Amino acid sequence: NQTLLEVKNLKQYFPIKGGIFGRTVNHVKAVDDISFTVKEGETVSIVGESGCGKSTTGRAILRLDTPYAGEVNFQGEDLLALNKSQMRKKRKDLQIIFQDPYASLNPRQTVSQILEEALEIQNVVPKRDRRKKIIELLETVGIGAHQVDRHPHEFSGGQRQRVGIARALSVNPKLIICDEAVSALDVSIQAQVLNLLKELQREFKLTYLFISHDLGVVRHISDRIIVMYLGKIVEIADKKSLFENPQHPYTKALLSAIPSTNLAQKRERIILKGDVPSPIDPPTGCRFHTRCPYAYDRCRTEEPILHSVTGREQQSACHLVEGGAVDFSQLKTNY
Ligand code: SF4
Ligand code: MG
Repeated sequence: NQTLLEVKNLKQYFPIKGGIFGRTVNHVKAVDDISFTVKEGETVSIVGESGCGKSTTGRAILRLDTPYAGEVNFQGEDLLALNKSQMRKKRKDLQIIFQDPYASLNPRQTVSQILEEALEIQNVVPKRDRRKKIIELLETVGIGAHQVDRHPHEFSGGQRQRVGIARALSVNPKLIICDEAVSALDVSIQAQVLNLLKELQREFKLTYLFISHDLGVVRHISDRIIVMYLGKIVEIADKKSLFENPQHPYTKALLSAIPSTNLAQKRERIILKGDVPSPIDPPTGCRFHTRCPYAYDRCRTEEPILHSVTGREQQSACHLVEGGAVDFSQLKTNY
Protein backbone atom coordinates (compact mmCIF):
# COMPACT_ATOMS: atom_id res chain seq x y z
CA ASN A 1 0.00 0.00 0.00
CA GLN A 2 0.98 3.58 -0.62
CA THR A 3 2.08 5.95 2.09
CA LEU A 4 -0.78 8.25 3.03
CA LEU A 5 0.84 10.20 5.84
CA GLU A 6 4.49 10.91 6.44
CA VAL A 7 5.48 12.75 9.59
CA LYS A 8 9.07 13.94 9.34
CA ASN A 9 11.21 15.35 12.15
CA LEU A 10 8.13 16.79 13.83
CA LYS A 11 8.78 19.01 16.83
CA GLN A 12 6.21 20.67 18.98
CA TYR A 13 7.74 23.01 21.54
CA PHE A 14 5.51 25.25 23.60
CA PRO A 15 7.15 28.43 24.93
CA ILE A 16 7.27 29.16 28.64
CA LYS A 17 7.22 32.88 29.33
CA GLY A 18 8.89 34.33 32.35
CA GLY A 19 10.61 37.29 33.95
CA ILE A 20 9.28 40.83 34.09
CA PHE A 21 9.41 41.18 30.30
CA GLY A 22 7.44 38.02 29.67
CA ARG A 23 10.09 36.64 27.37
CA THR A 24 10.34 33.01 26.35
CA VAL A 25 12.63 31.54 28.98
CA ASN A 26 12.26 27.89 28.13
CA HIS A 27 10.24 25.38 26.12
CA VAL A 28 8.07 22.40 26.90
CA LYS A 29 9.38 19.88 24.40
CA ALA A 30 6.09 18.04 24.02
CA VAL A 31 7.12 16.32 20.79
CA ASP A 32 10.82 16.22 20.06
CA ASP A 33 11.81 15.19 16.56
CA ILE A 34 9.66 12.23 15.62
CA SER A 35 9.24 10.58 12.22
CA PHE A 36 6.84 7.87 11.08
CA THR A 37 4.60 6.90 8.18
CA VAL A 38 1.07 5.58 7.87
CA LYS A 39 0.06 3.59 4.81
CA GLU A 40 -3.32 3.72 3.12
CA GLY A 41 -5.83 1.48 4.84
CA GLU A 42 -3.59 0.92 7.83
CA THR A 43 -4.30 1.45 11.51
CA VAL A 44 -1.29 2.84 13.31
CA SER A 45 -1.57 3.47 17.02
CA ILE A 46 0.42 5.82 19.20
CA VAL A 47 0.60 4.76 22.84
CA GLY A 48 2.24 6.11 25.94
CA GLU A 49 1.49 7.63 29.33
CA SER A 50 -0.24 10.97 29.55
CA GLY A 51 2.16 13.76 28.66
CA CYS A 52 4.24 11.65 26.25
CA GLY A 53 3.22 13.81 23.29
CA LYS A 54 0.75 11.52 21.56
CA SER A 55 -2.23 13.90 21.50
CA THR A 56 0.09 16.79 20.69
CA THR A 57 1.25 14.81 17.65
CA GLY A 58 -2.34 14.31 16.50
CA ARG A 59 -3.14 17.99 16.94
CA ALA A 60 0.04 19.03 15.12
CA ILE A 61 -0.79 16.81 12.13
CA LEU A 62 -4.17 18.52 11.81
CA ARG A 63 -2.60 21.90 12.55
CA LEU A 64 -4.95 22.45 15.46
CA ASP A 65 -1.74 23.76 17.00
CA THR A 66 0.93 24.97 14.58
CA PRO A 67 4.00 22.72 14.86
CA TYR A 68 7.34 24.20 15.89
CA ALA A 69 9.25 22.37 13.16
CA GLY A 70 9.06 19.44 10.79
CA GLU A 71 6.95 18.20 7.92
CA VAL A 72 3.55 16.56 7.72
CA ASN A 73 3.21 15.11 4.24
CA PHE A 74 -0.27 13.95 3.36
CA GLN A 75 -0.59 12.29 -0.04
CA GLY A 76 2.77 13.82 -0.85
CA GLU A 77 1.78 17.37 0.06
CA ASP A 78 3.23 19.20 3.08
CA LEU A 79 0.26 20.29 5.18
CA LEU A 80 2.42 22.73 7.10
CA ALA A 81 3.05 24.68 3.89
CA LEU A 82 -0.66 25.23 3.18
CA ASN A 83 -2.36 28.52 3.94
CA LYS A 84 -5.47 28.65 6.12
CA SER A 85 -8.05 28.31 3.40
CA GLN A 86 -6.17 25.48 1.70
CA MET A 87 -5.94 23.74 5.05
CA ARG A 88 -9.67 24.22 5.67
CA LYS A 89 -10.38 22.36 2.43
CA LYS A 90 -7.98 19.60 3.47
CA ARG A 91 -9.97 19.05 6.67
CA LYS A 92 -12.33 17.04 4.52
CA ASP A 93 -9.63 14.40 4.18
CA LEU A 94 -8.39 14.46 7.77
CA GLN A 95 -10.85 14.19 10.62
CA ILE A 96 -10.45 13.74 14.36
CA ILE A 97 -12.58 12.03 17.00
CA PHE A 98 -11.98 13.01 20.62
CA GLN A 99 -12.32 11.19 23.91
CA ASP A 100 -15.32 13.09 25.13
CA PRO A 101 -17.91 13.42 22.40
CA TYR A 102 -20.09 15.38 24.80
CA ALA A 103 -17.58 18.21 24.88
CA SER A 104 -17.33 18.37 21.10
CA LEU A 105 -21.05 18.12 20.34
CA ASN A 106 -23.15 21.25 20.79
CA PRO A 107 -25.74 20.34 23.48
CA ARG A 108 -28.36 22.70 22.01
CA GLN A 109 -28.27 21.10 18.58
CA THR A 110 -30.03 17.91 17.61
CA VAL A 111 -27.94 15.12 16.19
CA SER A 112 -29.31 15.89 12.76
CA GLN A 113 -28.35 19.58 13.07
CA ILE A 114 -24.85 18.59 14.18
CA LEU A 115 -24.37 16.48 11.06
CA GLU A 116 -26.09 19.05 8.85
CA GLU A 117 -23.54 21.64 9.96
CA ALA A 118 -20.63 19.36 9.08
CA LEU A 119 -22.12 18.60 5.66
CA GLU A 120 -22.77 22.28 5.01
CA ILE A 121 -19.27 23.48 5.93
CA GLN A 122 -17.62 21.07 3.52
CA ASN A 123 -20.48 21.21 1.01
CA VAL A 124 -20.52 17.44 0.64
CA VAL A 125 -24.06 16.92 -0.72
CA PRO A 126 -26.63 19.35 -2.13
CA LYS A 127 -28.99 20.82 0.47
CA ARG A 128 -32.03 18.86 -0.68
CA ASP A 129 -30.19 15.55 -0.17
CA ARG A 130 -28.81 16.36 3.26
CA ARG A 131 -31.61 14.88 5.37
CA LYS A 132 -31.35 11.60 3.50
CA LYS A 133 -27.57 11.59 3.87
CA ILE A 134 -27.84 12.30 7.61
CA ILE A 135 -30.18 9.37 8.19
CA GLU A 136 -27.92 7.16 6.12
CA LEU A 137 -24.84 8.21 8.08
CA LEU A 138 -26.49 7.62 11.44
CA GLU A 139 -27.73 4.21 10.37
CA THR A 140 -24.20 3.36 9.27
CA VAL A 141 -23.00 3.90 12.86
CA GLY A 142 -25.97 2.11 14.41
CA ILE A 143 -28.30 4.98 15.30
CA GLY A 144 -31.87 4.62 14.06
CA ALA A 145 -33.81 7.11 11.94
CA HIS A 146 -36.22 7.74 14.83
CA GLN A 147 -33.34 9.16 16.90
CA VAL A 148 -32.07 11.83 14.52
CA ASP A 149 -33.90 14.72 16.16
CA ARG A 150 -32.69 13.96 19.66
CA HIS A 151 -30.09 16.00 21.53
CA PRO A 152 -26.71 14.64 22.66
CA HIS A 153 -27.81 14.36 26.32
CA GLU A 154 -30.53 11.90 25.32
CA PHE A 155 -27.88 9.42 24.22
CA SER A 156 -25.54 7.15 26.16
CA GLY A 157 -21.77 7.73 26.04
CA GLY A 158 -21.32 5.00 23.45
CA GLN A 159 -24.09 6.40 21.25
CA ARG A 160 -22.64 9.89 21.53
CA GLN A 161 -19.31 8.55 20.32
CA ARG A 162 -21.19 6.97 17.40
CA VAL A 163 -22.56 10.42 16.57
CA GLY A 164 -19.00 11.79 16.71
CA ILE A 165 -17.92 9.05 14.32
CA ALA A 166 -20.84 9.82 11.98
CA ARG A 167 -19.86 13.47 11.97
CA ALA A 168 -16.26 12.60 11.09
CA LEU A 169 -17.47 10.21 8.37
CA SER A 170 -19.87 12.74 6.88
CA VAL A 171 -17.17 14.50 4.85
CA ASN A 172 -15.72 11.27 3.38
CA PRO A 173 -12.31 11.52 5.06
CA LYS A 174 -9.30 9.41 4.16
CA LEU A 175 -7.63 9.60 7.56
CA ILE A 176 -9.33 9.67 10.94
CA ILE A 177 -7.30 10.46 14.04
CA CYS A 178 -8.95 8.84 17.04
CA ASP A 179 -7.65 10.55 20.19
CA GLU A 180 -8.57 8.34 23.16
CA ALA A 181 -11.82 7.77 21.28
CA VAL A 182 -12.98 4.88 23.47
CA SER A 183 -11.13 5.71 26.71
CA ALA A 184 -14.15 7.15 28.50
CA LEU A 185 -16.39 4.17 27.69
CA ASP A 186 -17.09 0.98 29.65
CA VAL A 187 -15.09 -2.02 28.49
CA SER A 188 -18.02 -3.75 26.74
CA ILE A 189 -18.98 -0.53 24.96
CA GLN A 190 -15.33 0.02 24.02
CA ALA A 191 -15.34 -3.31 22.18
CA GLN A 192 -18.51 -2.38 20.28
CA VAL A 193 -17.13 0.97 19.17
CA LEU A 194 -13.79 -0.60 18.17
CA ASN A 195 -15.65 -3.19 16.10
CA LEU A 196 -17.67 -0.45 14.46
CA LEU A 197 -14.46 1.43 13.60
CA LYS A 198 -13.07 -1.73 12.02
CA GLU A 199 -16.21 -2.29 9.94
CA LEU A 200 -16.20 1.31 8.78
CA GLN A 201 -12.55 1.00 7.84
CA ARG A 202 -13.33 -1.87 5.49
CA GLU A 203 -16.43 -0.25 4.05
CA PHE A 204 -15.00 3.22 3.48
CA LYS A 205 -11.29 2.37 3.01
CA LEU A 206 -10.32 4.49 5.99
CA THR A 207 -6.89 4.92 7.50
CA TYR A 208 -6.65 5.41 11.26
CA LEU A 209 -4.14 7.03 13.54
CA PHE A 210 -5.31 5.69 16.87
CA ILE A 211 -4.04 7.51 19.95
CA SER A 212 -4.42 5.79 23.32
CA HIS A 213 -2.73 5.35 26.69
CA ASP A 214 -3.98 1.75 26.77
CA LEU A 215 -2.08 -0.99 24.93
CA GLY A 216 -4.92 -3.38 25.75
CA VAL A 217 -7.27 -1.24 23.64
CA VAL A 218 -4.93 -0.70 20.70
CA ARG A 219 -4.25 -4.41 20.52
CA HIS A 220 -7.66 -4.98 18.98
CA ILE A 221 -7.39 -2.43 16.26
CA SER A 222 -3.74 -1.79 15.27
CA ASP A 223 -1.62 -3.03 12.43
CA ARG A 224 1.42 -1.23 13.76
CA ILE A 225 2.10 0.49 17.06
CA ILE A 226 4.28 3.46 17.95
CA VAL A 227 5.32 3.78 21.59
CA MET A 228 6.18 7.28 22.78
CA TYR A 229 7.96 8.40 25.93
CA LEU A 230 8.60 12.03 26.85
CA GLY A 231 8.15 13.37 23.34
CA LYS A 232 10.23 10.68 21.62
CA ILE A 233 9.41 7.48 19.77
CA VAL A 234 10.99 4.61 21.69
CA GLU A 235 9.63 1.70 19.67
CA ILE A 236 7.75 1.11 16.41
CA ALA A 237 6.62 -2.39 15.52
CA ASP A 238 3.94 -4.49 13.90
CA LYS A 239 1.42 -5.67 16.46
CA LYS A 240 2.66 -9.24 16.72
CA SER A 241 6.30 -8.29 17.31
CA LEU A 242 5.35 -5.63 19.81
CA PHE A 243 3.19 -7.89 21.93
CA GLU A 244 5.22 -11.07 21.62
CA ASN A 245 8.70 -9.67 21.53
CA PRO A 246 8.91 -6.06 22.70
CA GLN A 247 12.37 -4.61 22.21
CA HIS A 248 12.22 -1.60 24.49
CA PRO A 249 12.11 -1.73 28.29
CA TYR A 250 9.42 0.96 28.33
CA THR A 251 7.18 -1.09 26.03
CA LYS A 252 7.72 -4.03 28.35
CA ALA A 253 6.64 -1.89 31.27
CA LEU A 254 3.45 -0.84 29.48
CA LEU A 255 2.73 -4.48 28.62
CA SER A 256 3.31 -5.49 32.22
CA ALA A 257 0.38 -3.31 33.18
CA ILE A 258 -2.00 -5.44 31.08
CA PRO A 259 -2.92 -8.46 33.24
CA SER A 260 -3.64 -10.83 30.35
CA THR A 261 -0.34 -10.63 28.46
CA ASN A 262 2.15 -13.50 28.44
CA LEU A 263 4.88 -11.29 29.83
CA ALA A 264 3.16 -11.27 33.18
CA GLN A 265 3.14 -15.07 33.31
CA LYS A 266 6.79 -15.21 32.34
CA ARG A 267 7.70 -13.13 35.39
CA GLU A 268 9.36 -10.59 33.19
CA ARG A 269 7.21 -7.82 34.40
CA ILE A 270 8.61 -4.33 34.70
CA ILE A 271 6.82 -2.19 37.19
CA LEU A 272 7.57 1.46 36.54
CA LYS A 273 8.90 3.43 39.46
CA GLY A 274 8.61 7.15 39.83
CA ASP A 275 6.85 9.74 37.71
CA VAL A 276 7.45 10.80 34.15
CA PRO A 277 10.18 13.48 34.28
CA SER A 278 9.42 17.01 33.09
CA PRO A 279 9.44 17.62 29.33
CA ILE A 280 10.88 21.08 30.05
CA ASP A 281 14.17 19.60 31.17
CA PRO A 282 14.15 15.95 30.07
CA PRO A 283 16.85 13.57 31.36
CA THR A 284 20.13 13.50 29.43
CA GLY A 285 21.06 10.54 27.26
CA CYS A 286 18.16 8.10 27.09
CA ARG A 287 15.14 9.91 28.45
CA PHE A 288 13.96 6.69 30.03
CA HIS A 289 17.16 6.08 32.03
CA THR A 290 15.74 7.48 35.28
CA ARG A 291 13.13 4.72 35.31
CA CYS A 292 14.73 1.94 33.27
CA PRO A 293 15.70 -1.23 35.16
CA TYR A 294 18.40 -2.01 32.58
CA ALA A 295 20.03 1.43 32.49
CA TYR A 296 23.84 1.54 32.48
CA ASP A 297 26.46 4.31 32.29
CA ARG A 298 26.11 4.96 28.59
CA CYS A 299 22.37 5.56 28.94
CA ARG A 300 22.96 8.65 31.08
CA THR A 301 25.05 10.42 28.47
CA GLU A 302 24.29 9.09 25.00
CA GLU A 303 20.89 9.37 23.38
CA PRO A 304 19.90 6.12 21.66
CA ILE A 305 18.82 6.17 18.01
CA LEU A 306 16.12 3.91 16.56
CA HIS A 307 17.73 0.54 15.74
CA SER A 308 16.03 -1.81 13.30
CA VAL A 309 15.56 -5.37 14.46
CA THR A 310 16.67 -7.66 11.64
CA GLY A 311 13.94 -9.67 9.98
CA ARG A 312 11.12 -7.83 11.65
CA GLU A 313 9.20 -4.66 11.05
CA GLN A 314 10.42 -3.33 14.36
CA GLN A 315 12.62 -0.51 15.59
CA SER A 316 13.72 0.28 19.13
CA ALA A 317 15.54 3.28 20.56
CA CYS A 318 17.54 1.38 23.17
CA HIS A 319 21.33 0.94 23.24
CA LEU A 320 20.84 -2.71 24.15
CA VAL A 321 19.18 -3.42 20.80
CA GLU A 322 22.09 -1.97 18.82
CA GLY A 323 23.47 -5.40 17.99
CA GLY A 324 20.12 -7.08 17.26
CA ALA A 325 17.10 -8.42 19.10
CA VAL A 326 17.47 -8.81 22.86
CA ASP A 327 16.06 -11.44 25.18
CA PHE A 328 15.40 -9.21 28.15
CA SER A 329 14.71 -12.16 30.44
CA GLN A 330 18.41 -13.01 30.19
CA LEU A 331 19.53 -9.56 31.33
CA LYS A 332 20.13 -8.49 34.90
CA THR A 333 18.06 -5.62 36.17
CA ASN A 334 19.23 -2.90 38.52
CA TYR A 335 16.46 -3.60 40.99
FE1 SF4 B 1 17.12 1.53 29.30
FE2 SF4 B 1 19.48 2.36 28.43
FE3 SF4 B 1 17.83 1.11 26.79
FE4 SF4 B 1 17.30 3.58 27.61
S1 SF4 B 1 19.02 2.95 26.34
S2 SF4 B 1 15.88 1.92 27.48
S3 SF4 B 1 18.05 3.49 29.72
S4 SF4 B 1 18.81 0.25 28.61
MG1 MG C 1 -4.06 13.00 25.42
